[in-house]
Order: sequence, then C-alpha cells, then structure tokens
Amino acid sequence: MNRVFLSPPHMSGKEQQYIAEVFESNYIAPIGAFINKFEESIESYTRTPYALALSSATAGLHLALRVLGVGRDDYVLASSFTFIGSVSAILYQDAKPIFVDSDESWNISPQLLKKAIKEAPKKPKALIITHLYGQVCKLDEIIAICKEAGIYLIEDAAESLGSAYHGKQSGTFSDMAVYSFNGNKILTTSGGGMLISENKEWIDKAKFLSTQAKEDYLHYEHKEFGYNYRMSNVLAAIGVAQMEVLDERVERRREIFNLYQQYLCEVEEITFMPEIQDSRGNRWLTTLTFKRTNPMKIIEMLEKENIESRPLWKPMHLQPLFKDALVIEDGTSQRLFEQGICLPSGSSMSDDEVKRVSDCIKKYLHDFS
Ligand SMILES: *Cc1c(COP(=O)(O)O)cnc(C)c1O
Repeated sequence: MNRVFLSPPHMSGKEQQYIAEVFESNYIAPIGAFINKFEESIESYTRTPYALALSSATAGLHLALRVLGVGRDDYVLASSFTFIGSVSAILYQDAKPIFVDSDESWNISPQLLKKAIKEAPKKPKALIITHLYGQVCKLDEIIAICKEAGIYLIEDAAESLGSAYHGKQSGTFSDMAVYSFNGNKILTTSGGGMLISENKEWIDKAKFLSTQAKEDYLHYEHKEFGYNYRMSNVLAAIGVAQMEVLDERVERRREIFNLYQQYLCEVEEITFMPEIQDSRGNRWLTTLTFKRTNPMKIIEMLEKENIESRPLWKPMHLQPLFKDALVIEDGTSQRLFEQGICLPSGSSMSDDEVKRVSDCIKKYLHDFS
C-alpha cells in the first residue's frame, strides 16, 4: 500500500515554469519580480495593503514583535495550544510569555484571556493568537478585549491561509499577522512566510530589519542590527504558482474533512474539531478526539498500515522549556492533547485514501472495544 502522508506538498504544475523564468532573468536572489508578484497576490487575496515575503512565519513573528517595540521583560500573551513557532520570537526578544488556555472552540478562550490580563504582573504589550488547524479564533471578543486593554493583537495565521470569519480573511483582523509556506502547510514554497499589515510604516520597518538593517547609503552603514530574513525570488516563484490554486486547495481540504465525518459518524466516541459560527476554516488538518481510546494506540496502528498521523500540538505550558512561564489554564488544551489526533489531510489525497484511513480506525475500535 502507498504511504499516506499527513500533509505533503501539492504542486499546481506551474511552479517549474515560473522557476524557469527566474533562471532566465538570473534573479536567483532575495530580490526580483516574483517576490513582488507573490506579495501582490497575498495583498489582493486577503485585501490587505502591505505584505512582506520572508524566509519563514517564525521570522515574521520575530519582526512583528520587534517592530511593535516588544523588548526585554515585556509580557506577551499567547495561545498555549499551538506550535512552538508561534512563540519562539517572544524568547528571541527576551520578553516573557503568558500562556492562555483554550475553550470549547479549541482556540484561545476569551474568558481566560481577560483573566490573564487582570492577573499579569504588568500590562502585557501584545497578544499572539493562533488560528489552530485552520479554524479562526473568536475574533470579535478577542479584538474587543485587546482594544479595551490597549494591547497589540498579532495573528499567527500560519495554518489558516484561506480561512475566513464573517467573510473576511484570517490574518486581516489584527495589527500584524503571518502566514507560513512551510512544507506541510496548505500551500508551500518549501519554506517561507509572509508578514502582513495595514500599517505601511511597520511593514517598511520590518523590510528594513529583514535585510540586515542597511541604512540608505552606498557604503554599508548601520545604526541598528537586523536579520537576514528575506525570501528568495526562486521560492517566491513557487509561491505565485501556489496562490493560483489556493481556493481549490481550501475546497479539497474541506471535502476531505467532510468525507472523514461521513465515514466516521457512526463512531460514538469520536468528536471532530468544531467550526465556530460565521466562520469558514480551511480545514488544514482534520483533527478529532477520542472519548476512551488512547490516540497513541491509533497512531501506532495507522503507522503499521503505512499511514502517517500525529498527536495534537502539545500545549506550550506543558513544555519543559516553559516550566517557569506564567499560564492561565483550566485543563482544556491538556485534555485535547491527551485525547486527540491529526489525520492525513493533504489536498492531493484521494477519496479512497480517506476511506482507507477511516476503515482502519473503525476496524481497530471495533476489535478493541
Ligand atoms: C508552521 C507554524 C509556524 C511556523 O511557520 P514557519 O514558516 O515554519 O516558521 C508557526 N505557527 C504555527 C501555528 C504553525 O503551524
């Protein structure tokens, strides 16, 4: 049986043609026409005025914190139920994270967020929210809380490109946001990220910092330090080709989710990740929890069938790295972590493969219950 991967790259077919154009122009560098095109395609898709193509989403979050003035001993609130790339930048800036647990939406809990702000040792500078597995957070409530408290809002939309809330794209609700084009995301450039904002000054500053903070002289003059975070024109060419099929990719990921739901609906102990009202997620990964069965057993069983699956993200407040960090939690994300898995969800998966995975799970639960 062919291996079924969790979320492999899915090329559109145009990538190599665009890469060939890059080679013809000889702009094999972090400068060139495709970088501009890629940024423009994100700007027009998300209806955001400014986008900056970078080497990763993690780099984008680092630049966002730097541009917003988050520094040593500042506090930054963040969803605990996320991937480390969401929060590494807090440490890069010598700032301190305060982790906030999830609610029934699996995303950050507005109630616990309020509590975290109240109990913080001093006023936090920013909040990083993650739209987990492509589902948007309860943005109306979160935006209101941040406004009232005077806290910058940053969206980690690494997993949610193409997801919408009230018909508006995820990533466009905050001061700054990032998308990721890492190998397993809904679109990929092999690796890469995009920082977006409505604020031109911030994006200009981020661009300056992403290219070694060179002052505007012919000789190399530096007043502050920057980073080497810009995206290559070769990878941007892949990005342009990928953006052309984003809507199809979202459609297919949602179809795969619906197929799993259909095949597994009779299994009483399975609950799928919800989708909050007025939202349309990209269903980057189909995720679900088991009431009784240890998900590690399912993962091992699927591996024997040559099918790749994963546990849900291990919450940040349970990571040894953050054993001393502040956290407001009520056990929700820990329970999800202990009960849940991510199923193979690549947009190139066939209906038969979805059925194969579902049948394996049904058979296992039938035989061992
Ligand atoms: C993938 C991911 C990142 C990191 O993206 P990179 O482009 O690999 O840096 C950050 N946050 C979340 C939630 C992710 O899933």
